[in-house]
Amino acid sequence: MKRYFIAGNWKMYKTVPEAVSLASELKARLSDCGEKLMIAPPFTALQAVAGVIKGTNILLGAQNMGPEESGAHTGEVSVLMLKDLGVSVVILGHSERRHTYGESDALINIKVRLALKHKLEVILCVGETLEEREQGVLEKVIRRQLSEGLKGVEPSALTDVTVAYEPVWAIGTGKTATPEDADAVHEFCRKVIAELYGQNAAKQLLIQYGGSVKPDNVAALMAKQNIDGALVGGASLKADTFVPIAKFR
Ligand code: PEP
Repeated sequence: MKRYFIAGNWKMYKTVPEAVSLASELKARLSDCGEKLMIAPPFTALQAVAGVIKGTNILLGAQNMGPEESGAHTGEVSVLMLKDLGVSVVILGHSERRHTYGESDALINIKVRLALKHKLEVILCVGETLEEREQGVLEKVIRRQLSEGLKGVEPSALTDVTVAYEPVWAIGTGKTATPEDADAVHEFCRKVIAELYGQNAAKQLLIQYGGSVKPDNVAALMAKQNIDGALVGGASLKADTFVPIAKFR
């Protein structure tokens, strides 16, 4: 049976006590959930949340990572620091990093390779803006983000990569791609991965959908052949919305 990867991105929300409280509730309410689960609190709450979810079925994720192991990089957090706290997954190339903080495909690629070198799983986010969709360059953008983001990644490391398709216009807006539209882009992602790594790797690859996933739309999205999970922002901030998403079936 297909096992889905449901991940929560808490973005710049939650103080340490708030994060501990949410993680504790998720730990209790998701202990019987059979999907692959991850939560990504802000950096400041990673250690505390690690203590809560250690030994459970919930993986600890980080929302970003610096491009070097160590050095003079004021404000950055290194892969070694994340590993030290028990982080096992890192989200890279989120659209807020690309568009608000100007992260390029080249920078994201450096981070992807560094994370994989240190055996962190990577969620590589890709997605087009509304303007790009309307200009008909969606496939060109997705192909570039995938091939540049994964440049130099060995086929053997691809098993540690999940792709998250997140149309920028659907993030935090309440607008969701229709399941059919999302599935078509997921299928295209698989085609690009097949060109880069072969059919088998493309078949194995997990592709999450992200963009206003909520309890009432998750089942229809997950029913699509090429959708293997969800990267959830706003609805991951409350147990009452994240739990039904994770337990959509
Ligand atoms: C996200 O931040 O990755 C995201 C998909 O956010 P939201 O679910 O709020 O649209």
